[in-house]
Amino acid sequence: MGNTVVVENQKLQEIPLQVRTLRRSRDYQQISLYKDVNPLDWEDWQWQLKHRIRTKEELAQIIKLTPDEEKGIKKASGRLSMAITPYWATLIDPEDPNCPFRRQSVPTAAESVVGPHEMVDPCAEDRDSPAPCLVHRYPDRILLLATEHCAMYCRHCTRRRLVGDYQKSNVPSRFEAAIEYIKSNKKIRDVLISGGDPFVLEDEEIESLIQKIRSISHVEFLRIGTRVPVTLPQRITEKLVAMLKKYSPIWISIHFNHPREITGRCRIVCDMLTDAGIPLGSQTVLLKNINDRPYIMKRLMHELLKIRVRPYYIYQCDPVRGTQHFRTPVAVGINIMEKLRGYTSGYAVPSYVIDAPGGGGKIPVAPNYVLSQAKGKYVLRNYRGKVYTYLE
Ligand SMILES: *Cc1c(COP(=O)(O)O)cnc(C)c1O
Ligand code: SF4
Repeated sequence: MGNTVVVENQKLQEIPLQVRTLRRSRDYQQISLYKDVNPLDWEDWQWQLKHRIRTKEELAQIIKLTPDEEKGIKKASGRLSMAITPYWATLIDPEDPNCPFRRQSVPTAAESVVGPHEMVDPCAEDRDSPAPCLVHRYPDRILLLATEHCAMYCRHCTRRRLVGDYQKSNVPSRFEAAIEYIKSNKKIRDVLISGGDPFVLEDEEIESLIQKIRSISHVEFLRIGTRVPVTLPQRITEKLVAMLKKYSPIWISIHFNHPREITGRCRIVCDMLTDAGIPLGSQTVLLKNINDRPYIMKRLMHELLKIRVRPYYIYQCDPVRGTQHFRTPVAVGINIMEKLRGYTSGYAVPSYVIDAPGGGGKIPVAPNYVLSQAKGKYVLRNYRGKVYTYLE
């Protein structure tokens, strides 16, 4: 008995001090389903993954489900089925069906409606795949899809054709052809490891993949796209961070959609990563009634700067089948950009892009500041609409 206490105390030391002393606005122990969970288990990412909410019955113990959500959960079995980490579940408003955490994670009946221009693979990624797990669109950089699994499945996911828990394909030689392709293509200087979420893989799997890419001499830039700092912050352990640090420089892009996603727990992991010399950027999907108001987007950008994450992209929501209810007109995105530029720090202004349907890559869309251009004379307007002339 005494022995167990010692072991537990030792394990407790493995949890970073900031986490042990963190003040949470709403503690998981206030939720009856989790009231008896040991803090060590709560901080264990494998425990979090194993206890993800996957059924209507489990979710109904935490939030009051609407008939629309019940229908959605039933239909979403199979691909992109529901999976919600206990961490994320504690952030959901039990009473409000419009809660941003809830809308991003709980399926609704609208997902089975296919809109007029919606496609299975809108950015034609499968067409531009020269080897399994690769998408090669730009000459100098390549996207490597390291896994089709994620900690939580976002209802607006662009890769819903690939992503989900419907199959396991973890053959060790999975990346062989991909690595060979990158090796033989000397123009590739930038590799983006994404998925799915690469950080649902074990440390050893991630390290072995990074090692293989790092050993290719013409690859000079390596980045990882992830959402776990937001959906499963427990995954960013000191051990993982120490491993990543060995392969510096590595950049990380984190998918953030709402200012409330930046919890105290999330801030700790962003600090751990930044302190290890890993530059962080954000990617945000413009989502109707979630972050489509300029003041919410601005607050998100400000909160990101406060945790040393540089806003990188805002994406127009891709025309993926079953996501019409998330999509806004393009004008909404342009208006958000208009309300950022000039009205806040330049560092808080990301690029708003449309990933061109058919596979044209990311195209920036911005308010127009050039009113006319002729014979060495540019007529410009500033953020307040005042007109200025620049002579060349
Ligand atoms: C987004 C993306 C990249 C990286 O684009 P950047 O603008 O350099 O961040 C590379 N390949 C594919 C297929 C992509 O979709
Ligand atoms: S984390 Fe990314 S890949 Fe995974 S479900 Fe969400 S949007 Fe899709």
